Amino acid sequence: MVSTRVPIGHAPPQFGIFNSGSSFPYSIVMQYDIQTLQRAVPMLLAWFCENKRDLPWRKNRTFYTALVAELMLQQTRVDAVKEKYVAFLEKFPTERELALAPEDEVLKAWEGLGYYTRARNLKKAAETIFREGTPRTWVGVKSLAGVGDYTAGALSSIALGLREPAVDGNVLRILTRFFADASVVDDPAVRKNFTCLLKQVYPDETADFCEGLMELGAIVCIPNGAPLCEKCPWNGLCLAHLRGEEERYPVRAEKKKRRVEYLNVYVLKCGGEYAIRKRTEGLLKGLWEFPNEQTSAPVAPSAKVGKLLAEKTAVHIFTHVEWRMRGSYIETEEKDPAYLWATAEEIGRSYAIPSAFKAFKAWVI
Ligand code: SF4
Repeated sequence: MVSTRVPIGHAPPQFGIFNSGSSFPYSIVMQYDIQTLQRAVPMLLAWFCENKRDLPWRKNRTFYTALVAELMLQQTRVDAVKEKYVAFLEKFPTERELALAPEDEVLKAWEGLGYYTRARNLKKAAETIFREGTPRTWVGVKSLAGVGDYTAGALSSIALGLREPAVDGNVLRILTRFFADASVVDDPAVRKNFTCLLKQVYPDETADFCEGLMELGAIVCIPNGAPLCEKCPWNGLCLAHLRGEEERYPVRAEKKKRRVEYLNVYVLKCGGEYAIRKRTEGLLKGLWEFPNEQTSAPVAPSAKVGKLLAEKTAVHIFTHVEWRMRGSYIETEEKDPAYLWATAEEIGRSYAIPSAFKAFKAWVI
């Protein structure tokens, strides 16, 4: 009979739960993975208990506060979220206040975090919870606006005590290193398989396990550069580390190049007020912006409307698009009625202008 345990360091060369090259029958490889991972779980829990960072969303947690934190943390750094999270909860302490607030107020409170669709989704989710109560199952959580598989897993584990893994790029990085698995992590099947695997070892401490994995990915098994394996609770089990091949994983599909778009941005000033308008289409739709026009290449501003006070260029990078902007600060004699004219104080207080325009907003505020 073939043993289901393979001594660490002597795994088959193509080892990996989803590596078609493995010489082990699938069920036996799975068994090996589960047993190894089962040994790793209490190590991670103990490490997390000792090393977790003091983050505001880890205090006085409710389903609603966990939802706010998870949506804010999507594609945004922890440091950027920390301050915003506290201020946001001061303004909207429960789902009730958020559900009843005007959308513009919510967008204003979100200003600086980017990806404003998340703010709109958060408001919709709060409306659902306010109307129907807190969901109690993964399916119920997943049905909330803005909640995908990862966030549903995180909220289920962290706020509801359910054994529902949350597998994102961080967790995939840790696990592909742990198993020295060369599967391409962009393949949804790989994520699904790791989710199944984690589910089989999920401990009773669902919140700590879920957050422990996130924490390990954030401060030890880090994405750029060499992981800090000497600090890792799994350094005696992790195959990539034992082989000295940590940076070979995760294996990724080749990235598509970002599309470059050129924009001329105009900060128009007239009598102490500035022209702004609401974007009606494309990226950042529904948010306030300075008048601008897309051009096919970098061009100098056309002879517009008034006295040129200053010029500067700026670049803003979205996930799939890069904006290369040329901004002109112009004093005009007349207020074009096509725009809303507001003072610097009003813009600061009531109108969310996305950080893509930050460089030009500095002329105003
Ligand atoms: S030992 Fe190193 S590579 Fe392996 S999981 Fe820990 S930090 Fe990541």
